[in-house]
Amino acid sequence: MAGLSSSLAIVLLGSGALDTARRIQSRFPESHVHGLAHRVVADIAYDDFGAHMRELYRAGVPIIALCSAGIVIRALASCLSDKKAEPPVIAVAQDGSAIVPLLGGTSGVNALAREIGTALDVAPAITTSGELRFGQCLLAPPEGYALADIEQGKRFVSDLLAGETTRIEGDAPWLDAAALPLADDARLAVRITPLAVDDEHSLVIHPRCVLAWIGDDIDIAERVRIALRGRGLSPLALAALIAPLHLMTSQSLSDTARALDVPLRFSDAAPIDINGIALQVHDAPVDAQSIGRARGTLTVIGLGPGSAELMTPAARAALIAAEDVLGYETYVRMASPFRDDQRMHITDNREELQRARHAFELASEGRRVVVVSSGDPGVFAMAAAVLEALDDGYASHPEWRAVKLAIVPGVSASLATAARAGAPLGHDFCVLSLSDNLKPWSVIEKRIAHACEADLVMAFYNPLSKARPWQFDRAIEIVRRYRSAATPVVLGRDIGRPAEALRVVKLSELKSDLVDMRTMVIVGSSTTRVVGDWVYTPRWYE
Ligand code: SAH
Repeated sequence: MAGLSSSLAIVLLGSGALDTARRIQSRFPESHVHGLAHRVVADIAYDDFGAHMRELYRAGVPIIALCSAGIVIRALASCLSDKKAEPPVIAVAQDGSAIVPLLGGTSGVNALAREIGTALDVAPAITTSGELRFGQCLLAPPEGYALADIEQGKRFVSDLLAGETTRIEGDAPWLDAAALPLADDARLAVRITPLAVDDEHSLVIHPRCVLAWIGDDIDIAERVRIALRGRGLSPLALAALIAPLHLMTSQSLSDTARALDVPLRFSDAAPIDINGIALQVHDAPVDAQSIGRARGTLTVIGLGPGSAELMTPAARAALIAAEDVLGYETYVRMASPFRDDQRMHITDNREELQRARHAFELASEGRRVVVVSSGDPGVFAMAAAVLEALDDGYASHPEWRAVKLAIVPGVSASLATAARAGAPLGHDFCVLSLSDNLKPWSVIEKRIAHACEADLVMAFYNPLSKARPWQFDRAIEIVRRYRSAATPVVLGRDIGRPAEALRVVKLSELKSDLVDMRTMVIVGSSTTRVVGDWVYTPRWYE
């Protein structure tokens, strides 16, 4: 899955390493710099180094840690027993003077270390013997190829190190650069083949060159396995599963592709009339992206109020996987950095429906589309606009229904502001937008009055704008009829952003000069209290 695992984590503890981190990052545009919150301004903030490292490691994310090898080893010690799921882990000295590949011998750690070495102009400390001798890791073939069996591979490398020679059978262009001890009459062989061969004297590498075209979605995993076995092919040689377009929304099909660990593509251009399953074996690895198209995805995410640390990992993963990112300029900028291969579509804040339609159009071409909102996407933001567009286009755009739609929640401004102030939303509350762009002002007045009558804490979004200069004062006038002059009011401006400002005033002091469009206003209920610098609403009620 193209989630976090497609990216690379450059993890640092202090700002002393930031320079080195950015130098490494410039070589890997898909990477993110992870920094300890409050100490380093990074792309992604974490609180606990050990926990963060283990989370990355378990998610299979390649890690470049800018600290001592010892710190890295201690952090990961408890999760090292499962050798299969081992992403590359590299320790790099803070000043960039040393590069030590630690883990991930079979997932390309040495190749990665060499690339970092080029970026920093230092030779990495390669310690794996096979690699030193042959110039590259035989057990980590390039994209498009899969190693049949790691244990068999290790035996093969030790045999070579012990002085054996080898032949190469099949086409392995990347091995031309390796300094292998070749001999035509060697007992051992590197065999590049899609066939499932059982040969203890070979290093078997499967090119992903088999396409499985299917006509339906019933018991596919089992039937594909049987079909492969029938032709003597290894499941690791499978490059993609290709189904007709009308099966795009089939859940069992996407589960099957995941189980077989191959991309799922859709095309009505099957090479033959398929009645069941047709396997097509090519001479060389096939790039699945070049066949038909994927099921498009449309993910509506909330970025949180502004800072990277308040963005959820799910939202971050969606951004990393995105091909197209749509949103209002400020929010798209908040979601950066982007890679060169990602397209940004910046639109005016008010063109929400148009943006939502555009998102569906892109996604129904098979693209991975992300629409960004600040805070939570479901709170006065894009998630509802996207569903309105779907509702409108349901009959006229059947292709929109095939799009895989997901909404990823975020920390809404009211929640972020409340947390900074204490717990003003500790008891029943409501959220109201004071914008009368999309609803009549009379409805707003009525809701405020009812919320006051119900003694709810009120969180006001969109309190004021240049186009709506008088509404806020009018709203407060209504509140004053119900609440005492001493009622605490929390004003959070640019919460989670560099210009963050928090104020607590009494209802009697509240006036429109204190707020603008970047302010969240939380008006307490009859029980909301102040203790020291904190504002809270107790859980109990008299
Ligand atoms: N979807 C957003 C809200 C969009 S409405 C969310 O869930 O937060 C925009 C309003 O949200 C602004 O007028 C302001 O009242 C509030 N807001 C958004 N971000 C804010 C921030 N960082 N600090 C304070 N208020 C914010």
